[in-house]
Amino acid sequence: MRYLIGRLHEIALKGRNQWRFVAQLERNLRSLTADLELGKIRARGPRLEIELPDEVSEELVRERARLTFGFANFSIARLVEPKVSGIASAVVENLDRARATSFAVRATRADKKLPFRSIDVEREVGAAVARSFGWKVDLENPELTIFVEVFADGAYISFEKIRGAGGLPVGVSGHGMVLLSGGIDSPVAAYRMMRRGMRLTYVHFHSYPLVSGASKEKACELVETLVRYQASAELILVPFGELQRQIVAHIERPLRVVLYRRFMLRIAANLAEVRGAKVLVTGESLGQVASQTLDNMIVIEKASPLPVLRPLIGMDKDEIVKQARAIGTFDISILPDEDCCTLFVPRNPDTHAKAWEVEAAEAKLDLERLVGETVARVESRQFRFPKRLTRGSDKDEDRL
Ligand code: ATP
Ligand code: MG
Repeated sequence: MRYLIGRLHEIALKGRNQWRFVAQLERNLRSLTADLELGKIRARGPRLEIELPDEVSEELVRERARLTFGFANFSIARLVEPKVSGIASAVVENLDRARATSFAVRATRADKKLPFRSIDVEREVGAAVARSFGWKVDLENPELTIFVEVFADGAYISFEKIRGAGGLPVGVSGHGMVLLSGGIDSPVAAYRMMRRGMRLTYVHFHSYPLVSGASKEKACELVETLVRYQASAELILVPFGELQRQIVAHIERPLRVVLYRRFMLRIAANLAEVRGAKVLVTGESLGQVASQTLDNMIVIEKASPLPVLRPLIGMDKDEIVKQARAIGTFDISILPDEDCCTLFVPRNPDTHAKAWEVEAAEAKLDLERLVGETVARVESRQFRFPKRLTRGSDKDEDRL
């Protein structure tokens, strides 16, 4: 029988809360592999062991394990009897000569009552492999490392140790609402919050039909990529054009960007509260653009009844781009679109807006009515990963 062995990341350190983290990790792994129908899961110390049915593809299992926050690393392993000679012959049976020319064996023994030591396993397995394939032992820089973990009731052998996504299982750190533009930053902000265990809902503001629907499509594509970490997610599409028209009609140019942003936060908070999300998340990074000076951020945030988290605040563009590439959102983010903010954005926005000025400007607008009317016109889309063909989900998927 093959197993996926996932070794826990920080979760192992969480003391009395550990069971809650592990239970969430199990649920997440089940959801992310729903189409693969994996077997029993059990926790053994700081690892989870998941039975893999014979027909399941190892590549797919690895792909899903990589998306599961909470694993420091993982391997696909075979379970054999915890006897030295049996371990050695199982290792040889599961390898072929072409795989490497040099190797090392790393054995650990969890149960100190076993009648042999780790070094005995390493020696015997090493001798059997060298004899069968003629490979050279190289402890410094082996082409292949053979891992053996021995327990009282069985030994796991594997030929890999793959780095996991790390972090905490999605769901252990509450629920947040991400303001997702079509840009590079906000998807990275979403990734970083999920990696800290936050479950996310997404909101995107667009000016369709005043501009093309490209930014909506990008937002959908981005959520389709990001939903792979949390199995299901809602994206709320907010028509923002009418509100922007009102701002353009009544507010002088330099203040408009700050007002757009304040409306975004009010509307996002309204949508968040209905869904039980407790914070807003943005992709802002200090000083990156005019609306992201400290003064402007402070004035913008005052409009939000919910706290605003900015996981990228201290990152520079290079770091953000690197992460966007690594998680696969960069190529989507750089597709051309017409963001609702490129429309109507003045050439010289105010970089140090004052609260009293902004409030005086907003007094010319009927805030409650504008927020209420906009919220009433939002569209909601549901995303799932993996795509399951269950009744009820088909309709949502057809619309994407
Ligand atoms: P990004 O790369 O995420 O678009 P940016 O560098 O373009 O960020 P801004 O345009 O100032 O910066 O936007 C700052 C943040 O405000 C974004 O990261 C995002 O969280 C939010 N935001 C901006 N525009 C929108 C939008 N159209 N819909 C939803 N959120 C938005
Ligand atoms: Mg942007």
